[in-house]
Amino acid sequence: MSEIDRAISHSTGRPFHNRSSTSLGGGCINQASRITGEDGREYFLKQNHASFLAFFEAEARALTEIRDTQSVRAPEVIAYGQAQDKAFLVLEFIEEGSSSSKSQEKMGAQLAKMHQVEQPHFGWGVDNCIGATPQPNPKHDHWPEFYRDHRLGHQFRLAEKKGRKFQGSEDLLACISSFFSNYTPRPSLLHGDLWGGNASQDKNGEPFIFDPASYYGDREADLAFTYMFGGFSHAFYHAYEREYPLDRGFGVRKVLYNLYHELNHFNLFGGGYASSAQSSIDQLLQAA
Ligand code: ADP
Repeated sequence: MSEIDRAISHSTGRPFHNRSSTSLGGGCINQASRITGEDGREYFLKQNHASFLAFFEAEARALTEIRDTQSVRAPEVIAYGQAQDKAFLVLEFIEEGSSSSKSQEKMGAQLAKMHQVEQPHFGWGVDNCIGATPQPNPKHDHWPEFYRDHRLGHQFRLAEKKGRKFQGSEDLLACISSFFSNYTPRPSLLHGDLWGGNASQDKNGEPFIFDPASYYGDREADLAFTYMFGGFSHAFYHAYEREYPLDRGFGVRKVLYNLYHELNHFNLFGGGYASSAQSSIDQLLQAA
């Protein structure tokens, strides 16, 4: 029995013997596969270098925290650990179905419910990663400072290490509070990496979200990222707004929140993301 089979057997209380495994596409960072046991049970398996163990542990914790809200479905965590030179994470396998207006509407309403789950502090107390970039999540009482130091400032520092200094970055960090003059964000439970590739629906049209980079923060950050690559329909936004209306200043802060992802994409992949980030900075400095 392999280490992974043993972990599944231990967690489920029934012996699991892997019969076959099929590699899955769609992921950006990890090797994902569907594994089937001799008894027909199926699981979703993610593997990466052993140094990813802490990230898998954080992902498992986030998935459990999302599931505990009983708002939007997230895969159940079966096991995680290290097998030989690899870290692994085993989750409930959820067969995907096709998207519909109804499933989008449900997802909007359920995400709004999840965002109503709050903690006293911003941050999370556990660091995780966004893509493959480490994401610091210290607990913090003040959102604009948290966002300045641990989101934008963090990504600007990583970019500088790669030799890229963005024009106006310091001015933007210095005036960050101006984007929050009439708005007080709440520390909501966030998915943290909510693009279309991390949200889906099962065969019955029930939405589910996965691959989180959770922390407690302004819910607008989750909403903003749904717009960056698309994949969410009008029904999704309409249902969200009905359940938990957004503040009117979201339109400007959306740019501020997606700048974090543009910088992260630049730091991970380089290329044209630098000019997207620079034009967001220019736009924000004009609005400030
Ligand atoms: P990565 O961490 O590499 O980005 P993901 O967690 O996004 O990997 O998973 C890769 C793909 O596997 C997703 O695009 C999705 O289609 C599918 N997937 C993710 N979680 C599950 C699951 N629990 N059950 C079935 N398929 C899943």
